[in-house]
Amino acid sequence: MTYKNKKIYRLLSIILCLIFITTACTPKSTVPQIVEKDSFVLGTLGSIRVYATSEKKGNEVIEKAYKRITEIENTMSTSIEGSDIYKVNLNAGKAAVEVKEETVSVIKKAIEYKSLTYDVFNIGVGRLIQLWGIGKDWQKVPTADEIQAAQEHIDITQLEIEGNRVMIKDPEMLIDLGGIAKGYAVDEAARVLRENGVTSGFVNMGGDVYAIGSKPDGSPWNVGIQNPEIGVGGIIAKIGISDESIVTSGDYERYFVENGVHYHHIIDPKTGAPTRNELSSVTILSKKSIDGDVLSTAVFVMGLEEGLRFVEGLEDIEAVLVTKDKKMYATSGVVNRVEVLDPQYVLKK
Ligand code: ADP
Ligand code: MG
Repeated sequence: MTYKNKKIYRLLSIILCLIFITTACTPKSTVPQIVEKDSFVLGTLGSIRVYATSEKKGNEVIEKAYKRITEIENTMSTSIEGSDIYKVNLNAGKAAVEVKEETVSVIKKAIEYKSLTYDVFNIGVGRLIQLWGIGKDWQKVPTADEIQAAQEHIDITQLEIEGNRVMIKDPEMLIDLGGIAKGYAVDEAARVLRENGVTSGFVNMGGDVYAIGSKPDGSPWNVGIQNPEIGVGGIIAKIGISDESIVTSGDYERYFVENGVHYHHIIDPKTGAPTRNELSSVTILSKKSIDGDVLSTAVFVMGLEEGLRFVEGLEDIEAVLVTKDKKMYATSGVVNRVEVLDPQYVLKK
């Protein structure tokens, strides 16, 4: 062996050794690991689950998603001092407030939805929400006069937007993004997860759910429709979803009972009171959670017949409506995907 050949031989054996060491050090299995973290955000117990290459990586991306959700909460909450919405409400009738661009776009989307939903979705109902105080220390049944007085101040045309400046012209009016911001936050969390490499994951913020991809074995993520009967847990049906949102609004989420009447957090702007109809929950399937969030609330107010007809007329939106008398009604695009689990509930076709 010449000197040059010997050198090459030595080099080759070093490389081979290195290859051996690195392959010996890498874990044999590359099976994705499921990483999950719950956190109290947006007034609810949220949960994010991802499949990641390592637990560390999974925790890192989940942390980023929660950070984004908290940022949105601090911007769009009505009660957090200094949030965009807090400032806009505080300056009602006084001054225009400079807000973030994303606040403007969520407000604009909400305004569009008001006409699309025949006025049942109205972020201008802040005064009514404040008055009823559902879930707050001051929750009570207001007097008819109080309701009427608040109802005179829900006119969305009093909301003026110029560039990034927002002003409520009516000094008595308040806005509330409680029926849209959570869905937006879920979409943003999913975007953050995707941008950080997640191809299989699940975001659930108290009934506002988005599924990224499918599970690593290719099967869809199963989402349960909750039993709406107050005080009864459990799942009455399930639907498999991937790259899709599923959002539920129900009368059992936040409510109080007075003199046997059950007052919940979805307000019918026409009556100024919590919606009373045959429904106990509305589940919306859509591409984005922001749409599902708005539409689940709106369809709930519309009621069974009008709600079903309304969703049938929308493209890429499906719904499952659960009635108080334990029936489920699904729109044509989803009816075959609903798997009933509780025999007490009947799926109407
Ligand atoms: P959750 O927040 O429990 O998921 P929803 O998505 O159904 O509930 O939204 C209910 C919230 O939306 C209320 O707490 C309130 O902030 C707001 N809201 C209530 N009624 C209306 C309405 N008619 N239009 C727009 N927003 C509403
Ligand atoms: Mg909602």
